[in-house]
Amino acid sequence: MDNCTVCTSLQGRPAGVARVDGMTLIGIGECEGVTAIEHYRCECCGTVMVRQLWGCSSEQVWTTLAQPACTRLTPPSA
Ligand SMILES: [Zn+2]
Repeated sequence: MDNCTVCTSLQGRPAGVARVDGMTLIGIGECEGVTAIEHYRCECCGTVMVRQLWGCSSEQVWTTLAQPACTRLTPPSA
């Protein structure tokens, strides 16, 4: 199962894109009281996306952290 269009369109986008329909905030990481990273889960396909707010500007982007487990659990061939 591929990422849905929401996730695909968000991948690599600048972190300045703050509010995204269909994304639920599930976690925040802080550094010295400043939000450094946010985790979102896609309500459509379950993919977890990271919105990175620290680092240089080229690092402040949306990236895919984890895709739904079903995409990775392939039984070994006997
Ligand atoms: Zn999605």
